[in-house]
Amino acid sequence: MTDFDHKITTFGIRNRILVFALIVTLTPSLGLGWLFYAQTKKLLQGKAELELHSTINQAQSEAKLWFKESAYNMRVFSNSFVISENLEHVIHAKQSDEKNAAEQLTTASKVIAEYLVLVQSQFQEYQRLQVLDNIGFPVAQSHETTAGITLPDNWQEQLQQNKMIIGETDSGDLSTEPTFLIATPIFSHEQGFLGLLATEFSIKWLDSVINSIALSESTHLSLLNKDGSFLISGKMIQKPEPMMSPDRNRFKKLYDTPMELSTYMNANGTKVVGLFTPLPHLPWGIVMEKNYTQVFAEVLALKNITLSILAILLSVVGIAAFILSYSILSPLKKLINGAIQVADGDLNVKLPVQNRDELGFTISVFNDMVVRLRKNHDELEKLSTVDALTGLSNRKRLMEMFALHIKRYARHQTPFTILMADLDHFKQVNDCYGHLAGDAVLISIGKLFSEMLRSIDTAGRYGGEEFLIILDDIKEQEALQTAERIRQAVEQNEVTADGKTIKVTVSIGVATINNDIDMQDGRLIGKADKALYEAKRNGRNRAVLSTSTKTKEKMKKHRDEHGSPKQSD
Ligand code: GH3
Ligand code: MG
Ligand code: MG
Repeated sequence: MTDFDHKITTFGIRNRILVFALIVTLTPSLGLGWLFYAQTKKLLQGKAELELHSTINQAQSEAKLWFKESAYNMRVFSNSFVISENLEHVIHAKQSDEKNAAEQLTTASKVIAEYLVLVQSQFQEYQRLQVLDNIGFPVAQSHETTAGITLPDNWQEQLQQNKMIIGETDSGDLSTEPTFLIATPIFSHEQGFLGLLATEFSIKWLDSVINSIALSESTHLSLLNKDGSFLISGKMIQKPEPMMSPDRNRFKKLYDTPMELSTYMNANGTKVVGLFTPLPHLPWGIVMEKNYTQVFAEVLALKNITLSILAILLSVVGIAAFILSYSILSPLKKLINGAIQVADGDLNVKLPVQNRDELGFTISVFNDMVVRLRKNHDELEKLSTVDALTGLSNRKRLMEMFALHIKRYARHQTPFTILMADLDHFKQVNDCYGHLAGDAVLISIGKLFSEMLRSIDTAGRYGGEEFLIILDDIKEQEALQTAERIRQAVEQNEVTADGKTIKVTVSIGVATINNDIDMQDGRLIGKADKALYEAKRNGRNRAVLSTSTKTKEKMKKHRDEHGSPKQSD
């Protein structure tokens, strides 16, 4: 294993491409979408505001007109001769000591009451009418049975300021309509302020006014009491339902910001845009609301369309980014795996080149690189096993082969023989012909050995002018014959250098592996060396079989002849 066995777990290329694609998609689409959304929303809000403004103005002036008319009518009745004259009588009778004062009071009151009944029968918006004296004490009323009308505490103050009195608005209950109190002063030429004509005025009649205002379909108009409860909602009188009352805080806020458009949830839980205006003189306000969804329908549709387009865009870009990252990562992965394989020492790598792009080019460069590496590697390997001068195996290679043969012998008892060959008086060759000529001789001997030997044999340069030959699977006698052939071939070999013919001879020591002891380190080579030494001693230019080998041979011969074994070496 190499150092490359870590995984790519950091923020990889695929994620970076995806993030880039998302940013590139989202930034402009959201930016433009938002801009377009905001612009359209502003436009629609302006349109709604304009519409609400004009309608609320219309409603306000209609309500004002209605109130003005109602107040005027009340003034007309309060100043009618029947009321002022009889009220004068009543006040006079109350103050006099005359005998018939009580009778006068009853008569005058009765006349007033009859008059009030008459007026009420003609004007149904008056729930009931009542005449009060100058200190606010009831004198006569249209309904005898019901309780009197209660004036607001500050009626005198109101009278001085506005020349009329407006009371609290009664939202009514489920069976009665909402009413409010109006009272106008009664005057006479002689005595001045005599009293008041008061009525409980039914708001129902404002309904028709509201109805006359042209409202668009999504617009809703409500009349609110100053405490925030509904008086009239939509185009009908709203019976008081606590649930329907708007949020007090919301109402207060509306009250504080008249004629300002705001967005909120109305009493029904619907989102609306609303506008509020208080009514002058009256304790009421008008609220104009438009359904938010309807006002901003276009913008909401736009939002949905934008989101859908964005979703489509994101999926398309996401898929494109995925394909892009795949097209980059797939060859890159192959390249990485190839590089890891090479790093692990396996040079048998050839990656398929599928694309003609930069990555394809990189892969073919990688393949080229691996081919070169393999070539260099092979050459290096050869260099490390071959002797540079003779082209035979070097000593390292020789030793490897020797070890291999020993192993094979141990396993299968396959015999082999080694020849230790040393050129005779080689020093003289160098001395006579020069070192280069000596080299030429060594080269030529090397060539000779390679030509003479079988492919299963190994010849190598053991050192200097000494050669080791391993003859595979060969018997002693055959080996000795081969050694002799080699000796003869060397003897006959001629090398020409500088126009001179050089001839050399060789001495060879022959040793065949015969038993397990021969497998011990250096044992067999030592035997061959000894035989070589013997050859040298005996006059050189000869092949000598190792003594122990000879002894064994003799023993075998003796055994064959006499049948009794003799142990040696
Ligand atoms: P002997 O018969 O006893 O072996 O005599 P010899 O001269 O061959 O033996 P010795 O070991 O004294 O000398 C070996 C010589 O081989 C010495 C050296 O100059 C020569 N020699 C060794 N290697 C090379 C080589 O690579 N090139 C050349 N030209 N000469 C070499
Ligand atoms: Mg030597
Ligand atoms: Mg020698």
